Amino acid sequence: MANLILILGDQLTRDISALENADRDRDVVVMAEVHDEATYTNHHQKKIVLLFSAMRHFARQLESDGWQVHYQSYHPDNQHQSLEAVVGEQVKRINAEKVITTECGEWRLHDQISGWHKRLGVPVEIRPDTRFIASKQEFADWAEGRKQLRMEFFYREMRRKTGLLMTSEGEPEGGQWNFDADNRKKWTGKPQAPAQFRIEPDAITRDVIALVDEHFSDHFGTTDDFHFAVTAEDAQGALEHFIDYALPCFGDYQDAISDTEDWLFHSILSPYINSGLLDPLTVCEAAARAWYSGRAPINAVEGFIRQILGWREFVRGIYWMNMPGYAQENRLGNTRALPWFYWTGDTKMRCMHKAIDATRRNAYAHHIQRLMVTGNFALLAGIKPEEICDWYLAVYADAYDWVELPNVLGMVMHADGGYLGSKPYAASGKYIQRMSDHCANCHYKVNKSTESDACPFNALYWHFIDRHRDDFAKNPRMGMMYRNWDKQKPERREALLRRAGDLLANLEQL
Ligand SMILES: Cc1cc2nc3c(=O)[nH]c(=O)nc-3n(C[C@H](O)[C@H](O)[C@H](O)COP(=O)(O)OP(=O)(O)OC[C@H]3O[C@@H](n4cnc5c(N)ncnc54)[C@H](O)[C@@H]3O)c2cc1C
Ligand code: SF4
Repeated sequence: MANLILILGDQLTRDISALENADRDRDVVVMAEVHDEATYTNHHQKKIVLLFSAMRHFARQLESDGWQVHYQSYHPDNQHQSLEAVVGEQVKRINAEKVITTECGEWRLHDQISGWHKRLGVPVEIRPDTRFIASKQEFADWAEGRKQLRMEFFYREMRRKTGLLMTSEGEPEGGQWNFDADNRKKWTGKPQAPAQFRIEPDAITRDVIALVDEHFSDHFGTTDDFHFAVTAEDAQGALEHFIDYALPCFGDYQDAISDTEDWLFHSILSPYINSGLLDPLTVCEAAARAWYSGRAPINAVEGFIRQILGWREFVRGIYWMNMPGYAQENRLGNTRALPWFYWTGDTKMRCMHKAIDATRRNAYAHHIQRLMVTGNFALLAGIKPEEICDWYLAVYADAYDWVELPNVLGMVMHADGGYLGSKPYAASGKYIQRMSDHCANCHYKVNKSTESDACPFNALYWHFIDRHRDDFAKNPRMGMMYRNWDKQKPERREALLRRAGDLLANLEQL
């Protein structure tokens, strides 16, 4: 009897575990563009194009490799609007002996699939996702008994495990584990940022763009100027482009923000790594080779590898160890609604406008825009974690619950009480001024704090510090902030809190 092999939209990898030991003549691969998955959040239009087109290309590839594929294309009137309904119908059609799939990346779907064996009446085998460098169990074993989980220590384990940037004596290359201190330069226009890697849409992608324009035009973003890769071959091209042109400066300008450049020296590889078009270990190995062959400096290569081998694996481990409760965390007790300008970019705050506008156009903003601009603002303004998490899940082409949630709820919002990060990334306008050229073009004045044209980040920062004294005063990494706050004259503190109160009461008008 045949097995039904389900491949999800972020499992577009030819050696995905669900296909292991399968019989191409007997088994049937099922892939489906379903309404429920495309609409459970307000996914960016480019994200839908990317995934549907990449899925269609992948299904063709499987067919040309000899697999039998049942593929459901999206239509709003399809009889089956959920994965469960599509799989259920195909189980009956082929009289499947069992369903085989690779573990998925979201608790929501994992929970549904875990109940399929009962509801569909066939065994469901869920295989580990071997594309991650650490298994869920390996992470849980590492975390066990530790009072605090810190990425840096987990990352070192992963360096040892993979041998990446390790000497034959088992020491880190360059004599240090971490070169972050070298990676904080402001970018002033030089060296020139490389041209963005582009793939022009082929006939399949053009069909999907038309479909998204017709049925998803009310979703965030736009399909205009779609140029993501949608096949593994083209994603490999994007990796090579990054290594050749951007990696050498990746480290130096990793934390920089620009008023004119959307992409700077970032890799823009997360949409491909997360959907399975690129393998994370292969990406790290390519970067390491660039250092060994003298094509990129150690601070760039180590910094880049740490993001994938360290942060990416670490947040995944945190997610699976703590779901589903993690998504409900709100330790700072935030209650404020997400301002509407997160969806429109219509705000006089230049840094926010620029980050949101890039997000709307590109389904992309780089890490520091996500963390220190849109994220920092949400933290300072006390936005409800579930609303800001939902925004991040919707607006980026690389967003999946397992990676978005810990980054937003833990790293940005500190809503998990410091489980993921030892201190909140709260910052005033001075940080944004130091790392970007936005402030010179802004309606607000970064050097002012209490006046009506003062940078909103400044007073909101002190309001955040003041209102969370009970949460942070004992945190040794926050002591300096409290000493600085307490040192200010009472009239000054009062004026700052008054200005922040006005800002919080009028967030929509900023
Ligand atoms: C609030 C917030 C939300 C985020 N949401 C997502 C998300 O939904 N999906 C996502 O893939 N990343 C997310 N990140 C992490 C990071 O911002 C993106 O991975 C990165 O911006 C992707 O662009 P890039 O490929 O050019 O990355 P680069 O700067 O070139 O970094 C290289 C790679 O490292 C990995 N990486 C870097 N930082 C992280 C991180 N903190 N967590 C996990 N992987 C990381 C990515 O795979 C990335 O492709 C988020 C970060 C923040 C602060
Ligand atoms: S002045 Fe404030 S709001 Fe304006 S760009 Fe600078 S940090 Fe952003």
